[in-house]
Amino acid sequence: MLENVRIILIGTSHPGNIGSAARAMKTMGLSNLVLVAPECDIDGKSVALSAGASDLLKNHQLFATLDEAIADCGLVIGASARPRTLDWPMLDPREMGEKAVIEGKKHPIALVFGRENSGLTNDELQKCHFHVFIPANPEYSSLNLAMAVQTLSYEVRMAFLADKAYPEQQEEYPLANEIEGMFEHLEQTLTDTRFIVPHPGLVMTKLRRFFNRARPEVKELRMWRGIFSSIQKSISSDNKAAEHDK
Ligand code: SAH
Repeated sequence: MLENVRIILIGTSHPGNIGSAARAMKTMGLSNLVLVAPECDIDGKSVALSAGASDLLKNHQLFATLDEAIADCGLVIGASARPRTLDWPMLDPREMGEKAVIEGKKHPIALVFGRENSGLTNDELQKCHFHVFIPANPEYSSLNLAMAVQTLSYEVRMAFLADKAYPEQQEEYPLANEIEGMFEHLEQTLTDTRFIVPHPGLVMTKLRRFFNRARPEVKELRMWRGIFSSIQKSISSDNKAAEHDK
């Protein structure tokens, strides 16, 4: 199960933080390190700070975008240094650990960490099912990146060690790329119906929040796609009929 937990660092700018994050992960039994568009290279400082965890550095995966890094994940959790983000479902670190352990038996899961200076963007936060906040000092709540990785990895480990107590997950959730496919289909359908104009503004953000909150299962996602297709089909036959009447 721990192999199914992916630690994703986005836009990291200090090589030392990548090394320290690798060390934090390895002490907690995690090994899957993913870098998205890092702003620095892995260098001697990274290796020094990783101590004995340079194997994680060597085996890291590199992606240009978050979408690619989470494509095959069934659960995506974003770590944020702010207690409320976009009005999104929040977990505390303990709840996050339990969810990771329960769902990590079914599909890969991602814990996503932001940039040292600016955290995660709204776009990135919207790709997550949940956000997790480490309830730190309200006047000084931003941990060093690798320390945040340590704290959340510890919670995953604690939940992993307590595992027997958790119920088994029955639901089949779609993977992140399938969810993205659904949102593209939804946006296209709403463009076809002219519910949204070329610059949709907040509509898609609100719909993302709505579907994210509902957390559709695989069969439900399929049904929604069928609904969108039926709307598109009916629009295009209406359009053809209108052409014919001209
Ligand atoms: N200045 C940034 C914080 C950067 S800290 C901001 O205002 O958002 C780097 C990363 O560590 C964050 O993006 C987040 O993923 C993680 N992190 C730091 N403190 C955290 C906390 N209290 N809870 C959860 N994650 C935290």
